Formats: sequence, structure tokens, C-alpha cells
Amino acid sequence: MSYITIPICEPTIEKFIESIRLAAEQKPDIIELRLDSLNEIRSGDMTAEIVKEAKKHARIIVTCRDGAEGGENNHPWEKRFTVLMQAFVLGADFIDVELANYETPFFKEHIDDHLSRYPDTKLILSAHNFKEPFASLENIYTRMQAAKPNAIAKIAYRANHINDCFAGFDLLHNRKSDMIVLCMGPAGVISRIIAPKTGNFLTFASMGESKESAPGQLTIKQMRSLFRFDSINQDTKLYGILANPVGHSASPAIYNGSFNASGHNGVYLPLLLEGGKPEFDLFLNNVTSRPWLGFKGFSVTIPHKTNAFEYVRDFGTLDAKAMPLGAINTIAIDADGNTSGYNTDYAGALNPLKKAMGTLAGKKAAVIGAGGVSKAVIAALVNNGARTTIFNRTIEKAAVLGRLFNCDFASIDSSERIKTEAFDIIINCTSVGMTPNTDQSPVPAQTLTSAMTVFDTVYNPVETKLLKAAAAAAAATINGLEMFVEQAVEQYKLLTGENANRGIIEKVLREKFLINN
Ligand code: NAP
Repeated sequence: MSYITIPICEPTIEKFIESIRLAAEQKPDIIELRLDSLNEIRSGDMTAEIVKEAKKHARIIVTCRDGAEGGENNHPWEKRFTVLMQAFVLGADFIDVELANYETPFFKEHIDDHLSRYPDTKLILSAHNFKEPFASLENIYTRMQAAKPNAIAKIAYRANHINDCFAGFDLLHNRKSDMIVLCMGPAGVISRIIAPKTGNFLTFASMGESKESAPGQLTIKQMRSLFRFDSINQDTKLYGILANPVGHSASPAIYNGSFNASGHNGVYLPLLLEGGKPEFDLFLNNVTSRPWLGFKGFSVTIPHKTNAFEYVRDFGTLDAKAMPLGAINTIAIDADGNTSGYNTDYAGALNPLKKAMGTLAGKKAAVIGAGGVSKAVIAALVNNGARTTIFNRTIEKAAVLGRLFNCDFASIDSSERIKTEAFDIIINCTSVGMTPNTDQSPVPAQTLTSAMTVFDTVYNPVETKLLKAAAAAAAATINGLEMFVEQAVEQYKLLTGENANRGIIEKVLREKFLINN
């Protein structure tokens, strides 16, 4: 259990009361009143009104943050101190005091005195670094333990890279009492989501967009509906997509929606992994050396497919089908931290083709493109007996793949060969025709015939200019969404060991990509 806490920062009493009522509608476990955000702190009465309203709806934390630790308005310490003392009297459930302030004899004496007079109020001792990780988290925690062993230790620091989160997870793993360790910034988002898994006493979530009190806070709606925060516990398995950027991925909605439907105890995270191979390797080492974190696997996309291939080739087990591809999009992790790597684009291309055509043996296939997707598609075709020709804008790249897979190759300019040589299958593996260039097609319409199966791997839009022309020529068609769904179905099984819910995958992808059709 980790308490989901909405922080409220407002400049006036009226706005505080309004926001408390709005926040209460979202049923947080705790409301944090950031009273330092008040433009002016006058008499005690003004905080009383705010605290009394908040207490009607949830447990409350009263905070009057020191400007030195991110507090607003730089209120003088005497005023902040008065607010905190009054919060005891008003029955606050928690008082947040910065460790640096608590360590001064004056604060300590009065706070300890109030803690003994108001035993229902608990102390949160906090330390913040908005710039970077603390040089030593252990030292901060040791200081907190020495200052007040039964206080709830709260340490918040900026993660400048996702790898900075692991020191925080370690501290939580070894905690001796209730504790909060959160990483701020986009690289620290996962520390907020998996708070119940790592044993965080609470996590913060904003009541809405632009209402966050610290960088990287998600909204309470995102936490609960997309990441199923309320169902995360210590046994929850972790999955995620390794990418940079990661914001537009459909995978969190696919996986978390599927977990919701099946009851699988897992959460799928957006994992913003900045940097190149060294950062990728460090992340995988961080994960595999901490089996107690429960990471079970990853989807991998731009720019890390080659990094993933090399990591698993060197330290894990690569699927034989992925060997010639030089890139993988799936890493599964077993209970001992061993990695296995797969490229599910192979099955993603093969399954719809087999469904449409039965066997591929002896069929003549033209592949347009010689990039990453082309490799998986060509491997699937060649391994299943299709006679394949690669057409590409850059002939040298076509030649490399031609030699690798032992097939014919040509320039994309010679694509009129597609008609004269009577290909059975045409597959576009270029980005030609993709949004925003939806008026482009890699193959002239007049080269398409009703005897062909035309497959466009582009899925945005789903019905590309090429596919529209193929349908007009009465050819059979396969769209990129079918491939996307197939590769996702295959990947889901590899990562979770369970069958995917195809309906949910299709629904999420259609909602995401049909917008552009
Ligand atoms: P990639 O490695 O960057 O390769 C891009 C390919 O497109 C290269 O062959 C490139 O030719 C060619 N190309 C790009 N612009 C072109 C143009 N204006 N005219 C002619 N050829 C052009 O990319 P990738 O990872 O293979 O992805 C390719 C496409 O596959 C994506 O755009 C996406 O739509 C699709 N895709 C589909 C799925 C799915 O599941 N359905 C999954 C991933 C990707 P040069 O070698 O001459 O540069």
C-alpha cells in the first residue's frame, strides 16, 4: 500500500478551498497542503480555514516549505514555524519539516514537544535536491534516522537519467521504517508509479494538468486509469518500453489495458532511456542485478534496437531468428535475471502473409526498402521459401541485404519490374506514404494487378495511398496495423507467458492511428 497524495499549491485561501474540493472529488488518500504557496501568511486563522476544509475529505499533510528547498514565496522561518505549530493544534495527520530545519535546536525542541502533546500527528522529515541526485542518499537517511528514528523519512531528488532512480530503489529496499523516496523530472516518473512496489509510504499525483507541485508528477487520473496504481503491490511484475522519446507510445495503453482485462499482476511503464550503448547497458545491468524489483521484460524501440541486440548477444540468449537481423525489439528476463532477445517484427510480417496466402513457398516477393523492418520481412520471406527481390533508393543498402539473405536486389527506380516480372507479393518497408506524406506511394498504381497481395508496413495512416491503389486494382491487401498487432501479440506472450487479448490491442491501435484516416 502506498498512499496517493494530491498536493495543493494556491496563492489565496479562497483558491485553496476551491482546489481542496476539486481534489476531494478524485478521492486521494492524502491531501498535502503546501501552505508556503500562499502569497501572504498572516494570522493563524487563515491556515485554520484551509486545514479544516481539507480534513473533511482526506488525511492531510501540512507543509510550509523552506525557500531553500523549493518552497514558494520565501516566507521567513518564523512564519513557517508558526504555521507548522498551528497544524499540530488543528489535528494535521502529518507535518512535513525539512531535515535541515529540524536539526536546529529551536525547531527540534518545539516540534518534539508538540509531537508528544499531539500523538496523532506524525512527523515527515524531508530533504530535496531539485538539481541532481544527492551525493550520498545513505548519508541523508542516516542523518534522518539519527535525528528522529520514528519519523517518516522523505527524500526527493531530481533524476537526470533513468539510471539515477536505482539508488532510490535500493534505499527503499533496505529501509528500516516508513519512507518516501521519489525521483523528480521526466527520468524519475517510474519512481512515482511503482511506489507501492518499492514500498514508498506515499506518492504524489497532481489533480490535473499543470497542477503538479514538482516536476514529473503525473495526474491522479493517469496514475489510476492508465497505470492501475491501486492494483500495484509488492508482487507486481514490471514491464516497459525502452525508448527515446517515449511519450507517444501506444504500448502502455495496450499492456496495462490487457493486464486490467486478464487480471495479470503487472504494470507496463514508459521508460525514457536517454543516451547510447553505455547508458543502455547500465540500465539493463541495473535491472538484472536487482531481481527483487521484478522487471520481467521490455519492448525496445528507437534508438535502442541495436543496443538491445548487442546486450543480449553478449550477456544473454538471442533467438536464432533474430541473429541475422542485428536488432531486437523484445527482451524477456527470467527469475534469475537472465535475458533473452527476440525480434517480433518477423512474426508480425509472417503471420498476416500466411493468413492471406497460405504458403509462401515458391512465391515471388518484391520488398521495397532496406532498413530495419525490411530485414525482418526479408528474413521471414526467405526462411519460408519466397523468392525475394529487394528494391531500395540507396542501392548499396539493398546490396548488403541481398548478400546477407542471398536474394536479388535492384534500385527503387526500376520498380516497373514489379509488373513485368509478375510478383505475387509487394511489401512496402519504407516510410513513403506515412503521415504527413500521405499522397505518396513507393510503387506506381499501374504496376499493381489483381493477382498480387500488397502489404504496406506503414500503419499511420492505416489505409495508405499504396493500399488504396491495390484495392482499386482488386489486389489482396494487408495493412501495417495487422503487422503491428501480430508483433504485439507475439511480444505479449514472450514477456508475460500468457496469451494476448487481441481485441484490446486492436482497439488501442485503431483509436490511436485511425485518427489520421
Ligand atoms: P529505416 O531503417 O529507417 O529504413 C527506412 C527505409 O525507407 C530505407 O530503406 C529508406 O531508403 C527508405 N526510405 C525512406 N524515405 C524514402 C523515400 N522518400 N523514398 C524512398 N525510400 C525511402 O526504417 P524502418 O525501421 O525499417 O521502418 C520503415 C517503416 O516501416 C516505418 O516508416 C514504418 O512505417 C514501418 N514500420 C511498421 C511496423 C509495423 O509493425 N507495421 C513496425 C515498424 C516500422 P534508404 O536506404 O535509401 O534511405
